[in-house]
Amino acid sequence: ITILAIESSCDDTSAAVIQDSKIRSNIVANQEVHKEYGGVVPELASRAHQQHIIPVVDQALKVAGVRPDELSAIACTRGPGLLGSLLVGVSFAKAMALALDIPLIDVHHMKAHILAHFIEPPVPSFPFLCLTVSGGHTQLLRVDAPLQMTVLGETLDDAVGEAFDKTAKLLGLPYPGGPLIDRYARQGNPQAFSFPIPQVEGLHFSFSGLKTSILHFLQKQSRQDRQFIEKHLPDICASVQHTFVQILIQKLEQAVKQTGITEVGIAGGVSANSALRAALQQKAEQAGWRVFIPAMQYCTDNAAMIAMAAHYQYMEGKFASLQMHATARWSIS
Ligand code: ATP
Ligand code: FE
Repeated sequence: ITILAIESSCDDTSAAVIQDSKIRSNIVANQEVHKEYGGVVPELASRAHQQHIIPVVDQALKVAGVRPDELSAIACTRGPGLLGSLLVGVSFAKAMALALDIPLIDVHHMKAHILAHFIEPPVPSFPFLCLTVSGGHTQLLRVDAPLQMTVLGETLDDAVGEAFDKTAKLLGLPYPGGPLIDRYARQGNPQAFSFPIPQVEGLHFSFSGLKTSILHFLQKQSRQDRQFIEKHLPDICASVQHTFVQILIQKLEQAVKQTGITEVGIAGGVSANSALRAALQQKAEQAGWRVFIPAMQYCTDNAAMIAMAAHYQYMEGKFASLQMHATARWSIS
């Protein structure tokens, strides 16, 4: 079984080939056009996808050593994401499935982030808890089988990746600021400043109040010292990052306690964060959790994870019709 998978939900155009359950290629084209705007501009993103999709698919097939006529199915991200961006991948996948007369597979982007855990060993065993932390989502799930997952909690407002990026913007850092906060934080003291941990019921999260208190803190300090941010950038980054990580770890602890499950995975772009990774490793050593973190290139948006999800859907005969629509808002359950 050979499947070509396409991902175009946000600002990365990616294509991957999976043969049985092995990833043979995974090509990602990043979009540079958004940097100067401080965020992804949807219209520019869909145009860039149109420019990238053919070369990216070509390259994915070439690296895998696969000809189009050898493909068993074409998969694409159906949602959630930016509609204009999704449409490029969905239309391309439909056209290719139609031309080659092979099945089409529609993949849920957030499920795929979780199934990235199965690309390379070590793989978690079922059931496991998965914390999905990305630019658009913050969800805590119980995963019982590759295609069977339940949301235990999620953010009531901003995603944690968004909170990282918005804080970075307040600090005058370019988009996406999450990785930059991580980098500056390495030279800073996480105890230098303290921010309130939001009290949110159950396994839900909230980041917008915290974002406001960071804003007020920076405004107040800058009134007293105009150079406050420049002078204390590493300490501010380390302190903010420490607060975000504490929030995530506390909810994970609560979920482990509630479910008795100690297999814990993280997924999504923010799982690249070094403080989060370190905090999880510490939990693994101290509390006996088994912790799973996909390789960096499978944490941010990529088609390999879409291919992995497509593999499981193919096995269960879950195909889409050519009438399938890109779905910008699509719940995981
Ligand atoms: P979604 O998957 O919800 O549709 P997305 O695909 O845009 O959103 P990802 O590509 O999974 O999100 O992740 C991007 C986010 O991860 C950005 O908010 C970025 O700032 C954040 N991020 C990436 N690396 C780091 C890091 N080292 N520390 C903190 N945040 C990071
Ligand atoms: Fe994503």
